[in-house]
Amino acid sequence: MRKVEEFMKAHNLEVGDLIRVVKREGEERLTFEGIVMPPYELSPGETLTLKLDNGYNIGVLIEAIEKVEIIEKASGRPKMEFREVLPKREGLPNVRVLGTGGTIASRIDYKTGAVHPAFTAEELAKAVPEIFEIANITPELIMNILSEDMRPEYWRRIAEEVSRALNEGEDGVVIAHGTDTMGYTAAALSFMLRGLTRPVVLVGAQRSSDRPSSDAAMNLTCAVKMATSDVAEVMVVMHGETSDTYCLAHRGTKVRKMHTSRRDAFRSINDIPIAKIWKDRIEFLRNDYRKRGEGEVRVDGRMEEKVAILKVYPGISGELLDFLVDRGYKGVVIEGTGLGHVPQSFIPHVQRAVEEGVSVCVTSQCLYGRVNLNVYSNGRKLLKAGVIPCEDMLPETAYVKLMWVLGHTSDPEDVRQMMLKNYAGEITPYTRFDTYLR
Ligand code: GLU
Repeated sequence: MRKVEEFMKAHNLEVGDLIRVVKREGEERLTFEGIVMPPYELSPGETLTLKLDNGYNIGVLIEAIEKVEIIEKASGRPKMEFREVLPKREGLPNVRVLGTGGTIASRIDYKTGAVHPAFTAEELAKAVPEIFEIANITPELIMNILSEDMRPEYWRRIAEEVSRALNEGEDGVVIAHGTDTMGYTAAALSFMLRGLTRPVVLVGAQRSSDRPSSDAAMNLTCAVKMATSDVAEVMVVMHGETSDTYCLAHRGTKVRKMHTSRRDAFRSINDIPIAKIWKDRIEFLRNDYRKRGEGEVRVDGRMEEKVAILKVYPGISGELLDFLVDRGYKGVVIEGTGLGHVPQSFIPHVQRAVEEGVSVCVTSQCLYGRVNLNVYSNGRKLLKAGVIPCEDMLPETAYVKLMWVLGHTSDPEDVRQMMLKNYAGEITPYTRFDTYLR
């Protein structure tokens, strides 16, 4: 038997009991009150997991527990029923939560360790009851995939579901999504949803909701709050720091996953986030966002899928670009070095691509900063070859945007003009000093 099971048995604790524990931390004593959660099958079993009153889970090291006291047994408490949480409450805004998969939309089966989707209102209410205090929540699982399996046709499907929800009268939409490619989906929705008048918030979790360190509950709570705000834009809401202090709302075209595992993996690049979401308030960091209003939302989901991203590196062969051209690709986003450069030997291949009607866009693999092809002669040659320098756009955003633009026109001049037009805040007009590694 694992330590946690022995401990629960010794203290007559059952899953669901409300308890108070006193924990030793150096010289200090910390007291926590919370509901006992099931011990996670695959963990070493050295911690007792408690769900605190604020909805967050914590793991308390069993060795450090000095005192435990049962406040209320689970068996004596009425169960939270599906029906009890579903009726719409007057005066609360209405938010639809669309599930697409990923860690946030899943729970671990405690017995087998397998991951299952969990997305009924009842399950949500049990896992994150506080969101039902902020809004009337209607959950809907529209697909269940890992986000690395996301495809442009799924972006379109999500966009359709979002517009349907908003046009049916929801005050905001939250989309639970795997974190790996959440930035791409955020960019895709930013371009596809035209005439947006209410918030659309993507949210994910770096740790699943049954782990003590899960960020799922707080991220979802902040996302629902943001979905009731007056920001009529596509946003990503995730932890702002590694601890549970606040979440950040990032603009959908400027956000990127910058860490494989940290809870604060998402950062706005070359721009500042729209807001900080604290437990009790939203602190706006800017006011130049699109404001909530009235009107139908439209999906303009036409996309050319023959588009690729090509990362340039020392030793890259121009054959790679030739291959794309020969295979009928219509657009290529180059992730150049530094200010947007490619090796000299690569330039004739770019020239050929442009001559054959392929739109070649240039971004920087530095991610931070703006491309500038006027500084060095290699850059000037690239410009002469006819590339489109994409200002300070993220390579992934430029990729999604190029697909969208090429879905609307194949005229090279129109493509250039549309790529350089700011549709959804994807280009910051000037390089801000305060946006680097924030
Ligand atoms: N890699 C998966 C995804 O992005 C699971 C991890 C996550 O949800 O963050 O969907």
